[in-house]
Amino acid sequence: MSQPMTSFGAFDLAPIHCGTFRLDGGAMFGVVPKTLWSRQIPADEKNRILMGMRSLLIRSHNTGKTYLIDNGAGDKFDEKMSRIYGMDLGSGNLMDSLQKAGVEPGEITDIIFTHLHFDHCGGTTSMDDHGQLIHNFPNAVYHVHERHWASATQPNAREKASFLKENIEPIKESGRLHLTGDDVLYEEGLSVIMAEGHTEGQQLPVIEGISKGKKQTIVYAGDLIPTHVHIPLPWVMGYDMKPLVTLREKESFLKRCADEDLLLYLEHDADTELIRVGYEDGKFYVSEMMKLADLKE
Ligand SMILES: [Zn+2]
Repeated sequence: MSQPMTSFGAFDLAPIHCGTFRLDGGAMFGVVPKTLWSRQIPADEKNRILMGMRSLLIRSHNTGKTYLIDNGAGDKFDEKMSRIYGMDLGSGNLMDSLQKAGVEPGEITDIIFTHLHFDHCGGTTSMDDHGQLIHNFPNAVYHVHERHWASATQPNAREKASFLKENIEPIKESGRLHLTGDDVLYEEGLSVIMAEGHTEGQQLPVIEGISKGKKQTIVYAGDLIPTHVHIPLPWVMGYDMKPLVTLREKESFLKRCADEDLLLYLEHDADTELIRVGYEDGKFYVSEMMKLADLKE
């Protein structure tokens, strides 16, 4: 059954569910003790927490372009890797989700990658019956920040396991890679903010639209704020390359979110799509939780 996209000013939006997976809860919360984080988000018998992979589909009335932001881990994992990461594509997967939104893969004109860790770009390609990699979005330009591309293709030892050859190589060889700089404006109302703490050159799309007669701004929070549980400042991922940079970025970003009443679109939260953030007594908190569809006129 198809679900209509949500009208948001010059854009139509739809959440694209690329399945769920599981990551070590300790690594997801850095220095925060398990006694604290496990009260917010339960750990399974392997100490892993459930994570969503939520992409965002954007159709522009102004340019006719159809954008996809990230595309999950994809379906190339073998049985062992699927088990390690608790991959579950049955609860929702990229192609089914696009179909529900009424969009064919060939209609995607642009994929904006926040960054190229495996859980953000694996859906770019699949493996055919002969073990050959095939592109799922044959007409899309792949936008990656130039600083991020440099670190993805020459990774340091700590980050290396997040960049998979079978994901990066096809993007490199596609002839459709577009390296972006800072302050990129994809079109009017679709820009990015940069975040450097999680990985070099993470770009977080900012979508300006209209909901219920009011101007609203959505920020795709990527791996700066992966879930709603990551709102308190010290709750920074152990996976981050530069946690103190993330800390500074979170503080200024969340201040802006609270001051300007921005909406945060959460990529990895298993249940919550969108939140607003408040600030009181020196602390940030989640002031509202909602679905993208709640923004409808
Ligand atoms: Zn990441």
